[in-house]
Amino acid sequence: MEKKNIDWSNLGFGYQITDYRYVSNYKNGAWDDGAIITDPNIVINECAGVLQYSQSVFEGLKAYTTQDGHIVCFRPDLNAERMETSAKKLEMPVFPKERFIAAVKEVVKANDAWVPPYGTGATLYIRPYMFGSNSVIGVKPADEYQFRILTTPVGPYFKGGVRPLTLRVSDFDRAAPRGTGNIKAGLNYAMSLHAIVTAHAEGYDENLFLDPATRTKVEETGGANFLFVTKDGKVVTPKSDSILPSITRRSLVQVAKEYLGLEAEEREVYLDELKDFAECGLCGTAAVISPVGKIVDHGKEICFPSGMQEMGPITKKLYDTLTGIQMGRIEAPKGWIEVIE
Ligand SMILES: *Cc1c(COP(=O)(O)O)cnc(C)c1O
Repeated sequence: MEKKNIDWSNLGFGYQITDYRYVSNYKNGAWDDGAIITDPNIVINECAGVLQYSQSVFEGLKAYTTQDGHIVCFRPDLNAERMETSAKKLEMPVFPKERFIAAVKEVVKANDAWVPPYGTGATLYIRPYMFGSNSVIGVKPADEYQFRILTTPVGPYFKGGVRPLTLRVSDFDRAAPRGTGNIKAGLNYAMSLHAIVTAHAEGYDENLFLDPATRTKVEETGGANFLFVTKDGKVVTPKSDSILPSITRRSLVQVAKEYLGLEAEEREVYLDELKDFAECGLCGTAAVISPVGKIVDHGKEICFPSGMQEMGPITKKLYDTLTGIQMGRIEAPKGWIEVIE
């Protein structure tokens, strides 16, 4: 296979059309066999459930070229399981886990010329998604669905070096208690757009969302989970039923314990105690961990000792270890790496 002629190291994080996508349709209570297709466009009825009532869920993961030249992806079984949880909550059919993993592998293999080479820092982003595709006018679930996977090459997240982020404590809420915050649904992102656009306009990189019930506890940002490090080197992650269970965060906690010998705790984290942490990072597939240098709470600045120039030392170790596992430089825990070719 000959790679596409792309300046991989200078790619941004944007959608670029690739050659193939996976599609399967659900009708009369069953999924069809599914297929790899070339058409990137979707034609659906004007009254489709997704267009009227936002019945859609999605996932995000990446394929990498490892040091020894294999194409792999990272824990796709957890994406399949999370999509199952998301689908059930929005009254959508489940795309079976085994088929999900097989479809991810099939679509990446078809697009292998688009998987960035090892050492470029770029990866192939994989976006599985599902939506209600038939017409719905009274509020109810659709009867027909489409499951698709698109792929697009994305550049190194820390192009031009790591830059710690500045966050603001948002006056908007992300997810209601007992709502949909813990599922990966498009609707959670639609309602976060105003918060992020206004945050950017005010010079902040991201919003820190609090728990809406008491507005005293830290939840997450619009698209990443928090990870804190205490001054005595313990990893702390916020616990709440309305946080999206990040696969990266769960993996980093396991890396902290099993590879770095650190203590790790998932517990409620209060806004008041942020000033006592030594390091702060945001976890997600896109960046693995982005360091946070500063959080601004209505004019009051909380500055982490790791500063605005580099990752904190433990954040860096976590980052290096997990990316080392993903790129095949460090031995992975059993089942974490799915070899595609
Ligand atoms: C996708 C997502 C994350 C990160 O999850 P990963 O599985 O690590 O990519 C965190 N928060 C929200 C709200 C998300 O949608």
